[in-house]
Amino acid sequence: MVVAAGGPRLLLRRLREIMAEQTSAQTRLDKLVTVIATNMVAEVCSIYLRRAGKALELFATEGLNRAAVHNTRLQEGEGLVGLVAETAEPVNLSDAPADPHFSYRPETGEDPYKSFLGVPIVRGGQVFGVLTVQNRAAVLYAEEEVEALQTVSMVLAEVVAQGGLFNIAELDEPELRVDRPRVFHGEGLSEGVAVGRVVMHEPRVLVERMIADDPAEELTRLEDAIGSLRDSVDEMLDSSELDLTGEGREVIEAYRLFAHDQGWRQRMRDAIRTGLTAEAAVERVQDEMRVRVQRLDDPVLRGRLHDLDDLARRLLRHLIGESVAQELPLNAVIIARAMGPAELLDYGRERLVGLVLEDAAATSHVAIVARSMGLPLIGSADGITDSARVGDSIVVDGESGEAHLRPQPEIIAAFEAKRTLREHAQARFAALRDLPAITKDGVLIKLMMNAGLQLDMPHLAESGADGIGLFRTELQFMIGETMPRLADQAAFYRNIIDAAGEKPVVFRTLDLGGDKVLPYARWEREENPALGWRAIRIALDRPALLRYQVRALLMAAAGRILRILLPMVSNVDEFNRARALVDREIERARLVGMERPRQVLVGAMLEVPSLAFMLPQLMRNADFVSIGSNDLLSFAFAVDRTNPRVSRRYDNLNPAALTLIRLIVNSSAEAHGELSLCGEMAGKPLDAMALLGLGLRTLSMQPTNIGPIKLMIRSMALAEVAPFVDRLCGRTDHSLRTRLSAFAAERGIVLK
Ligand code: PEP
Ligand code: MG
Repeated sequence: MVVAAGGPRLLLRRLREIMAEQTSAQTRLDKLVTVIATNMVAEVCSIYLRRAGKALELFATEGLNRAAVHNTRLQEGEGLVGLVAETAEPVNLSDAPADPHFSYRPETGEDPYKSFLGVPIVRGGQVFGVLTVQNRAAVLYAEEEVEALQTVSMVLAEVVAQGGLFNIAELDEPELRVDRPRVFHGEGLSEGVAVGRVVMHEPRVLVERMIADDPAEELTRLEDAIGSLRDSVDEMLDSSELDLTGEGREVIEAYRLFAHDQGWRQRMRDAIRTGLTAEAAVERVQDEMRVRVQRLDDPVLRGRLHDLDDLARRLLRHLIGESVAQELPLNAVIIARAMGPAELLDYGRERLVGLVLEDAAATSHVAIVARSMGLPLIGSADGITDSARVGDSIVVDGESGEAHLRPQPEIIAAFEAKRTLREHAQARFAALRDLPAITKDGVLIKLMMNAGLQLDMPHLAESGADGIGLFRTELQFMIGETMPRLADQAAFYRNIIDAAGEKPVVFRTLDLGGDKVLPYARWEREENPALGWRAIRIALDRPALLRYQVRALLMAAAGRILRILLPMVSNVDEFNRARALVDREIERARLVGMERPRQVLVGAMLEVPSLAFMLPQLMRNADFVSIGSNDLLSFAFAVDRTNPRVSRRYDNLNPAALTLIRLIVNSSAEAHGELSLCGEMAGKPLDAMALLGLGLRTLSMQPTNIGPIKLMIRSMALAEVAPFVDRLCGRTDHSLRTRLSAFAAERGIVLK
């Protein structure tokens, strides 16, 4: 086979003409294979497309028996066509029937053809089908022929995807449509229902012009764009303003290396020589890379792929002359692989109605911020960033964890109805607001709410919470561009205390490190940040930071009761040393004649299992203890809570978790200490029922959970729940969830 005179560019032009025709899908496919075969001097050209269940079906052929069309099907991995689809790599053979992968299909009549070249039809990392050419002569196809066929297949894929090639509905195969409705089953991380339009956090740059008019000009455009990309990356690296250290600097250094990579540049130049525009060449090289890396299943390479994707997008923007900043449309639902809490806040609440992420777990900070913004959020929605396109309609159900992309109008209507129902349910919970959280057998439970930003404060009155059981002060530090000054910190805390009125507020001192980093601070890269330099460890090594914050809190709470909570305490000595720093600040305030709080109470977060064994000693100096079940259980089970691959591996309602909490409850009761729990468990009705059964009497949760938890409490009798939960601790189940739910159903305990 030789590429016909005029090269692939002529062929691409001819393809474009066929695609534009107003004929049926099948007619266009039939024409396409004929044109490709003629132009590439192949005796056979065939298109196989993927059917539901992954089978590859012969959709069109020139050269093979026409009767085989729509009758020959190959499973993924079956035959040479299946191999191309499975590996997403071209297969080039001089003697195909002799290859062990060859699968003989008599109905096709392909036995006389020796040479075989198959290339995948790929878009967005997905293989849609396979394009093949065959010849009788037993010769290997030349490199440029492989290249040419790949280019043809890329154009084919792009047009299939944009719906311009054929009306797929005619093919009666929903699986092939990239604009078909899709449902993603993720994890509901923040409740609520949203109906809106997709906005990509890192929007794919849309390439409209695929086929070059003048390749020489495209090469120049590519060189210019690479030049300006390199300049901008270099500038970023050298910028004194950025002042990056550790990981941040490594990332940008890696960018620089990638941006200067000659192999990358060469691959794009080669792609242009096959007739593509510079932007189509960037896409094609990136698509090939993505498919290769995704098949390797290597987390390090996958991480690098995000960098390369980012780099390719930047290069595309340089080519297209697009800017990065984007304005949100009304009812925006943002879709992203991952996002930080500050980035989410940047978008604001005004136009944003929902969020869907691929990498996020319940305790990720972006999830915490989404909940405090009252924004429905789904995490672990694998693959959604590849499928969604800007402007697609989408429904987000933060309760079930389902995202419906491009839903049918009936689905939208159903979710609109669900949203209305939720609003009614909230109205019902609002009616409960002024009723006490008291069990059927008369035990009063204290329900507090978690907060971290000024925008959380109106929820205190709306939810009827008894106070703020956990105020995460680090959020305020994380959203700013610079470290807040003393006066600003004091004013902020004073506003919070004022907004809470008579209700208590427990301020947790900065819980930094791990997954919470300040955008403006230098941060050393650590092998295991969750076990590294964080929270109280930083406070004790950099006492000025803690003292500064305590000073602001003392100023803000003048004349009132100040409650300070120290995070990530792992032993009593640590707590005592931090408490001594607080005392020194109180002493300083006295010496300078500042009006001080009426009383200062200092408590410890119990988030590290080692502290569970030291409660009698701890409680001699600590005024209260709050269990941070998010961290406590992730350390107890050795599970990284921010890693979606393992975050769901162990259930909080495992007997070991409940036994550990029972030990803490009993030990603190013996020491006559004040105990509460402020992790996410507190806000889940079934988990909270178990916690109350274990003896906890104060829970702190997201404000939206107060209503459902109060409803649960008012429908349960502790005298029944406590002995049942106690007995369950002796079981060996992976999770006690089913047993607890059955118990609740039997006793009429409401779990909404
Ligand atoms: C916890 O660990 O349970 C907790 C409340 O702290 P955070 O989620 O802020 O780490
Ligand atoms: Mg914690």
